[in-house]
Amino acid sequence: MDKISIVKMEFEGHTGCFDFEKNDGQKFIVSLDLFLDRIKGCYSDDLADTVDYSKIYNIAKAVVNGDKGNLIESLAQKISDAVLGSDERIEKVIVTVSKPEAPVKGIFETMEVTIERRRKEFVILSLGSNLGDREANISAAEEALKALPGVEGYRCSSIYETEPVGLEEQPYFLNTCVGFYTDIGPFELLDRIHVIENDLLRTRDIHWGPRTIDIDIIFYGDRVIMKPELTVPHPRWHLRSFVTVPLREIKNVGPEHPDDKEVSLYRKR
Ligand code: ADP
Ligand code: MG
Repeated sequence: MDKISIVKMEFEGHTGCFDFEKNDGQKFIVSLDLFLDRIKGCYSDDLADTVDYSKIYNIAKAVVNGDKGNLIESLAQKISDAVLGSDERIEKVIVTVSKPEAPVKGIFETMEVTIERRRKEFVILSLGSNLGDREANISAAEEALKALPGVEGYRCSSIYETEPVGLEEQPYFLNTCVGFYTDIGPFELLDRIHVIENDLLRTRDIHWGPRTIDIDIIFYGDRVIMKPELTVPHPRWHLRSFVTVPLREIKNVGPEHPDDKEVSLYRKR
């Protein structure tokens, strides 16, 4: 990826834990690395084909000048949100916020924090449960997903009751689809899903067997991943009415099947 750096911008700010910091203000130094996929301006030499540096400068300045928070960590987060929100071509940003006059006794050049944030992508997950309190399992999994860091725009479909596919000698499932924006990468998301499946639900309901909840990644933005541990889009999503029927409430895609009618509405929400 290509990188644009805006280095050591100096602003007046009021971020700090002490009242005198909030009232009197002090110097903050901000650096930004903006990552873009092959800047078009490299070829066109047209200003419109790259990021507007002065716009980014003013965005960072406005965030620092206006912040009333305690931590430079949260100031850095606000700057990254504003920068990523200002131009869709910016895929990733590294923000460094430095506070050279921080009220700490001793000799130091500065106190600073650096964070790296990616543009959020919309993911769609399929959730299913057929053991124990099925609806409670689904809502516990959903609460854990909503509590992941940086989740935004959470949406969920109705809950449907479906006949088991494959192994038929087992109870009916409840299925739902959820979607949200996240900057947790696909493999880390899968790890976190495994933690939710194992720690949160599987062990608690061990008495009922190992499959109280199943969470599958159906889509991760428009990415295609072909690894044994993670295949995205999910290879069988379009074949399964228990995915396609709830999925259509989140995103209008996917074929209709004759067996869609066997997926019955359990609870609208
Ligand atoms: P299944 O979902 O097929 O009933 P599991 O939930 O036990 O079975 O998943 C088995 C493995 O499938 C997981 O450990 C995971 O690494 C892998 N896997 C591959 N692609 C995906 C995906 N899109 N979503 C979730 N798991 C996936
Ligand atoms: Mg699974």
